[in-house]
Amino acid sequence: MSIERINELRDILRRLSREYYELDAPSVSDQEYDRYMQELIELENQYPEAYDPESPTQKVGGKVLEGFNKVAHKEVMLSLGNAYNFEDLQAFDERVRNEVGNVEYVVECKIDGLAMSLIYDEGKLQMAVTRGDGTVGEDVTNNVLTIRSIPRTIEFKGPLELRGEVYMPKASFEHLNAIRRERGEDEFANPRNAAAGSIRQLDSRIAASRKLDAFWYTYVNAENDGMTTHEQCLERFAQLGFHCNEERRVCKTIQDAWDYIQEMTEKRNDLAFDIDGMVLKVNSLADQRRLGATIKTPKWAIAYKFPAEEVITKLHDIMITVGRTGKITPNAVLEPVRVAGTSVSAATLHNEDMIKAKDVRVNDFVVIRKAGDIIPEVVRALPERRETDSKPYVFPTICPICGSKLVRF
Ligand code: NAD
Repeated sequence: MSIERINELRDILRRLSREYYELDAPSVSDQEYDRYMQELIELENQYPEAYDPESPTQKVGGKVLEGFNKVAHKEVMLSLGNAYNFEDLQAFDERVRNEVGNVEYVVECKIDGLAMSLIYDEGKLQMAVTRGDGTVGEDVTNNVLTIRSIPRTIEFKGPLELRGEVYMPKASFEHLNAIRRERGEDEFANPRNAAAGSIRQLDSRIAASRKLDAFWYTYVNAENDGMTTHEQCLERFAQLGFHCNEERRVCKTIQDAWDYIQEMTEKRNDLAFDIDGMVLKVNSLADQRRLGATIKTPKWAIAYKFPAEEVITKLHDIMITVGRTGKITPNAVLEPVRVAGTSVSAATLHNEDMIKAKDVRVNDFVVIRKAGDIIPEVVRALPERRETDSKPYVFPTICPICGSKLVRF
């Protein structure tokens, strides 16, 4: 049974990865993807005989698209291990301290974009390469050259490889989706998918029009250039003219790191770019080297992922939509609000029973969340914020489209 589940999960994850990395069109939320992945990791630990080097647990996601030159990375580009709560971070901290003793962490924003490697030599940008499958990426130099904040030339004349994240600022994303809406084109699900879709365009004029930006955070083989800490690498990047995210903190304990994560959880909506978590990195490069990596993730870093975002907004009305089969679905008409990367002005209420069970009324303040299938839903009403204009909803008895009597099944 569990071996069957392992195979089923591998198939599901492969399909979702293809939608996400190759088509830039995810059909489920990241949290749901991560839940499948976690279940698979646990089952594979229980059933070591099911080990398969081709399993999604053993692979850095992503595939090289046709149409771009393939470039082998000199150093593999890894993913990051995940943490979802303070206990996960404490366990990570314990593993690190058991291995290398006392450490400090640099805590950075986890930028929701796409990983990129830049290669300079003789002071000139030679190549920009996507992460791809971690071993081989796509040469997207022409598109990356359209990002204005990336220096074409730098003072440092030696060979230099740096890595970071190309992202679409929230303002560029809203603008792009507004244009797509006007033209009747499909909107991008979130800024990450929009950034990835823009970088992997064969026509660089499209990438140029998308107003992308980037933050840089990895100095490959930094110790060879005399660097001793991660923080020093970031300062060096900034001196050379690269954008480094100023929103970061050196923390001496895991508790300090957690306090900073709490601060950033509050602040994330005010940032000009989307972040989906925070990344903790051991600051000492010598300790990073001693800790090493697994096949997929470094052991000296971990990503704390924010829980699914819930926001409060006002429900102005409830409208009925009639599906292809004649099924009636009530939808909340909302005061537009940003949830998990996009502006939301409608959310499903599923059915009449759900409206009753949640006691959702017109003019209520409600909590909204993106559900598993990335369709926004009303989680609950806030009766404590109810005002005198709050009205219980009366479900229609006749179809608002064709006028025939509605029947419950
Ligand atoms: P990840 O996004 O969880 O973390 C690794 C990546 O974070 C790095 O490669 C880097 O690009 C990025 N990053 C951003 N800021 C960083 C920083 N400051 N320091 C270091 N790295 C930073 O892992 P992944 O392998 O890129 O993707 C897996 C994740 O993608 C999943 O956990 C899931 O959230 C999402 N995903 C979603 C779907 C879906 O269907 N919704 C499908 C596949 C993957």
